[in-house]
Amino acid sequence: STFTHQFNTPVFKGDVEFSTGLYIDGKYHDGLTRRTIDVINPSTGKLITQISEGTPDDIDVAVKAAHHAFNTTWGLNASGRERGDLILKLAQLMEDNIDAISAVEALDNGKTFSWAKSDVESVISCFRYYGGWADKIQGKTIETSQAQLVYTRHEPIGVVGQIIPWNFPLLMLAWKVAPALATGNTIILKPSEFTPLSALYFAKLFNEVGFPAGVLNIVNGYGSTVGQAIAEHMDIEKVAFTGSTLVGRKIMEAAAKSNLKNVTLELGGKSPNIIFDDANMEDAVKWAAFGIYYNHGQTCCAGSRIFVHEKIYDEFLHKFTEFTKSVKVGDPFEPDNFQGPQVSEVQYERIMGYIQSGKEEGATLHHGGQRIGDSGYYIQPTIFTDVKPHMRIVKEEIFGPVGVVIKFKDEDDIITMANDTVYGLASAVFTRDINRAINISNRLKAGTVWVNCVNALNPAVPFGGYKQSGIGRELGEYALANYTHVKAVQVNVNMK
Ligand code: NAD
Repeated sequence: STFTHQFNTPVFKGDVEFSTGLYIDGKYHDGLTRRTIDVINPSTGKLITQISEGTPDDIDVAVKAAHHAFNTTWGLNASGRERGDLILKLAQLMEDNIDAISAVEALDNGKTFSWAKSDVESVISCFRYYGGWADKIQGKTIETSQAQLVYTRHEPIGVVGQIIPWNFPLLMLAWKVAPALATGNTIILKPSEFTPLSALYFAKLFNEVGFPAGVLNIVNGYGSTVGQAIAEHMDIEKVAFTGSTLVGRKIMEAAAKSNLKNVTLELGGKSPNIIFDDANMEDAVKWAAFGIYYNHGQTCCAGSRIFVHEKIYDEFLHKFTEFTKSVKVGDPFEPDNFQGPQVSEVQYERIMGYIQSGKEEGATLHHGGQRIGDSGYYIQPTIFTDVKPHMRIVKEEIFGPVGVVIKFKDEDDIITMANDTVYGLASAVFTRDINRAINISNRLKAGTVWVNCVNALNPAVPFGGYKQSGIGRELGEYALANYTHVKAVQVNVNMK
């Protein structure tokens, strides 16, 4: 069936229409069981629409279509230029529809329309970036001896599975789909059951562009059924996953138990934000707030542990609290709001549980901690102080607008505290001393270090985690390796 919606908001007025079916082999299907999943509006808790629910049997159908496409119209059958042209056309079509896509994302996820639009801008850049790579994927010639000609080919892997979360629904799709298409793979993608709508809108545009059928298949459904079926499928040769560390382990286990498919994981974080006493105070306050409150704290790289040098701790805490009070929370379609509702009731309950645990474990609830309103999943931006390293709010990923502010003495002290985590996704350092910035950056065990900024992302720059934050890197040239096999060809020219 079809989803139609008339937006009549202060920031966007217009109609959208797209199919809510499973997108397999260039066509929409109801799914073999014809069951549906309810899609809930996090601003109200009410139903938006229902989408088709896929099953492992639907995954089998999609995998067959993807193999057929790989062997006939895509893979090594489409030149890099042809693949790149289609990707660039798709980027243009998204740009032509940017407001409508952003409105769908805001409605389904709860992020504000303006931040949703900023996501979609990043999505478009990501497709343009990888569209540019498509005809520049090349191996090397390797000099061994005059008797041999040796060269490598970077070939597509084949049919790849991609499982994505709800925090950046379309952006996570782009980070995975764009490099996989550019390198010639065919795809089975499962969006999050909480935020399936922007991917379905995307499917409509993808279809319009004229990609061959079966190149991209979008199968909605639950993680334990459809997600698991992707991870353990014998004819899927790679799986890329973004989400919780818990599920990341299940993906690896399923890959190990099935066909040893190649795995990349982008998992959780508990990123340190380190503010030295020589930092520009106003900037540090704003960036720290952006680090933890951006996307309502539902960011894997959220700067959730804010470390402040003891000399400026009191001043920082005061200014950070004042800034926090000014963060506007409310309807995603009101232009002044920065923060909307959390994505779902489950997440809302989970975050409130963490706030409760912080109080019970003896931390000081310095600011916030309450629900806002009585419908929708809105939570006040929240600050805890007087925390201890063993507390759950210090160790575990909350995935909500809840930060802890912690005092430190010197460089050795902060490195020990900052690295005292099972995660290692991102980190940030605020200082005006360039030597200190570089030395601290070298000592942090994290895949990204931001200096005097946070949450800076660019399709050309790799992103991924140390430790239990994941395996592999997305974005940039590095991500091409996730979707290619290197084949070495050794030719006997005159070898006896
Ligand atoms: P999740 O890991 O359960 O879900 C992510 C994706 O994995 C979804 O598409 C889901 O359907 C799928 N999935 C779930 N179980 C699966 C399985 N057994 N096999 C294959 N796929 C499966 O995340 P969540 O439950 O929505 O959120 C829980 C927590 O995960 C959050 O509170 C947060 O801490 C973390 N999280 C992190 C990120 C990130 O970007 N790193 C994103 C979302 C959530």
